[in-house]
Amino acid sequence: MAQQKLQGIRGMNDLLPDEAERWEAFEEIVRDWLKSYGYRPIRTPILEPTALFVRGVGEHTDIVEKEMYSFEDRLNGEQLTMRPEGTAACVRAVTEHNLLYGASQRLYYMGPMFRHERPQKGRYRQFHQVGVEALGFSGPDVDAELIVMCRRLWDDLGLEDVTLEINSLGDAAERAQHRQALIAYLEQHQDVLDDDGKRRLHSNPLRVLDSKNPAMQEVIEAAPKLMDFLGEESLEHFEGVTALLREAAVPYRINPRLVRGLDYYNRTVFEWVTTRLGAQATICAGGRYDSLIESLGGKPAPAAGFAMGMERVMMMWMDGQESGPVSRLDAYVVYQGDAAQRLGFRLGEELRAAGFSVVFHCGGGSFKAQMKKADASGATYAIVIGEDEVATQSVSLKPLREGGEQERIAVDALTDELAERIYGSEE
Ligand code: ATP
Ligand code: MG
Repeated sequence: MAQQKLQGIRGMNDLLPDEAERWEAFEEIVRDWLKSYGYRPIRTPILEPTALFVRGVGEHTDIVEKEMYSFEDRLNGEQLTMRPEGTAACVRAVTEHNLLYGASQRLYYMGPMFRHERPQKGRYRQFHQVGVEALGFSGPDVDAELIVMCRRLWDDLGLEDVTLEINSLGDAAERAQHRQALIAYLEQHQDVLDDDGKRRLHSNPLRVLDSKNPAMQEVIEAAPKLMDFLGEESLEHFEGVTALLREAAVPYRINPRLVRGLDYYNRTVFEWVTTRLGAQATICAGGRYDSLIESLGGKPAPAAGFAMGMERVMMMWMDGQESGPVSRLDAYVVYQGDAAQRLGFRLGEELRAAGFSVVFHCGGGSFKAQMKKADASGATYAIVIGEDEVATQSVSLKPLREGGEQERIAVDALTDELAERIYGSEE
């Protein structure tokens, strides 16, 4: 009896070769970009203790309230969570290994994150982020650096229609004052709040302002603005950031309702948004989180960072790209007979050692069938070896893509000939 076909998990995508090649090309651009700003990689495990995210992301956030993949390790009873974001784990690792001892760090990571939300275009249950964290810097200059470097990546990728929104969340005392005013205000308008709004009124009133519920927009619009509660230092910091943005000619829009979903932010917060992805408009978001390191048990140190949604950025980038494979195979080896097979096998290795990408035909078959495979492989050349070629220690080199005649090349001259043909014209 035929077995039932198994399927992947909803909201968790396979990346098939054509797409995976594009991801690799994208990751290469991203790595070069991060290197050009002096950021270094850090890799942390997918699984962390659940408590890390409850404390690090915040109890009253969407992520912790309803989006985490958490479970008990039945082998030892530990409470574990598949990372829903990277900052908490990065800070945990940096603290655990004392990387901030007398030093600051510019770090990045790239990889899968897991959130149990409703899958739709640009929103998945396994998705990928590039996270960038600057740890140990307190000034507005690093906030501006983080923002300006995003702009450079959009330029490198040729993305248009990406705009910057920025706000300041002030410090804890300023937020507490604003929070009081906000709660008092929202209490007066309880009748307009939806269930989420009522629930968050006291636990996380800032989040109420983040609601997209049309019925609440008027009340949200008129709510007390955090910006009006900022003291001198917070204002100065914010001015410092925007001054550098103007210096770098990065246009920004101050959005007083930008609050971010995670608890740990203070002062600068920002989002890069686009009109090209429908409802999933934010492709990159971040800000300053000066209290997080201490709240996770580290020695107090200032910090700022951002996370970029790779699927969303990829979607925008691929819009302007041709489909099909990215990488080009240099040669495909076909042969007839045992001696030809041995010669082809050996030549394949020689060519790879010289830096070419070569596929050796496996599985035999007629010349015609093998040539079909060679064509479908996308290779630039077929290297054809029959009895004749073996007898004369040569191969037939057949251009597969640009036309031109098949030519007989001596085995000893093959590497140089291929180099001349493939790289010769580029030099
Ligand atoms: P959203 O408001 O879209 O839910 P968020 O505030 O939860 O975003 P962050 O935690 O700040 O998002 O993550 C940073 C970026 O990661 C987002 O701006 C987005 O580009 C991307 N992202 C977040 N959640 C998902 C998801 N489920 N699928 C794909 N990308 C995501
Ligand atoms: Mg979210």
